[in-house]
Amino acid sequence: MKQTLQSLLTFGRNELTRRGVPDPELDAKYLLLEAFRTDMVHFLMNRSRPLPEEEEIGEGIRRYREMIGLRGKRIPLQQILGTQEFMGLSFYVNRHVLIPRQDTETLAELVLREHPGEGEHILDLCTGSGCIAISLARLGNFRRITAADLSAEALKVAERNREGLLGGLDEGGKASCQVELLQGDLFLALEPTEEVLGEGWDGFDVLVSNPPYIPSCDIPGLEAEVKDYEPRMALDGSGDGLEFYRRIARDGGRYLKHGAAVYLEIGYDQGEKVKQILQEHGFCDVRIIPDAAGHDRVAAAGWS
Ligand code: GLN
Repeated sequence: MKQTLQSLLTFGRNELTRRGVPDPELDAKYLLLEAFRTDMVHFLMNRSRPLPEEEEIGEGIRRYREMIGLRGKRIPLQQILGTQEFMGLSFYVNRHVLIPRQDTETLAELVLREHPGEGEHILDLCTGSGCIAISLARLGNFRRITAADLSAEALKVAERNREGLLGGLDEGGKASCQVELLQGDLFLALEPTEEVLGEGWDGFDVLVSNPPYIPSCDIPGLEAEVKDYEPRMALDGSGDGLEFYRRIARDGGRYLKHGAAVYLEIGYDQGEKVKQILQEHGFCDVRIIPDAAGHDRVAAAGWS
């Protein structure tokens, strides 16, 4: 019997179900569309038609089977496709960066809403794929964004996203905001500031970060996709998951202007503790903001 797109989909779905993949039907469909470089409309119109025996089709089937094999090993769909959407923009991802989460859009949207003005200098720590920094640059009116990460491999991904999403924008009219990428451990990436940020630089207006915040002992309990294939250094917030908040709160003040604002992504049960850490280090007006699902997701504060 000849293969059809539908029979391939059924094969893929069964294979992924057998391997315990959470959304087998949907993932098999995305992989099928990718393998045949086609879209949902084409699939719906042609799914029951026997596939012609052409080299190109054989190539598509081979690609599809290979991708189903990878997904069956629980490699995240986004790493196989090489892309994840964030704030309406398509970001390149690989195994060196945390896959941008919808939850994190809460943080980006909040910053855009509360800082509509022009000319601010933003710092993004633990930038990973660059999804926060680059979407703020695309969608906001900021002057300059400095984004840092400890991982050189993550910075390569961020660089590719900067090129893909901000490159050449200047020519199109709206001058794009400059995003600079720096390597280093949190604020150490900014040292010496005169050299890195320029003479006369006088502090950031806004600090944003989605740091690693999962307690080390919770990592083995995460889904296979996350614990086996996303970078542990993007997830592991050490013993109680709060280490990065302590370090950011301890050192942040030295890099912020008076009146600056801080936005940190947090885990759903970390609101009270992060609030306390920020207050202990002199931050004021601490707010804990929920995401679309109603879970605490962002800690916002002021520096005076
Ligand atoms: N929200 C991510 C997760 O649940 C964790 C992100 C982080 O540690 N910054 O996997």
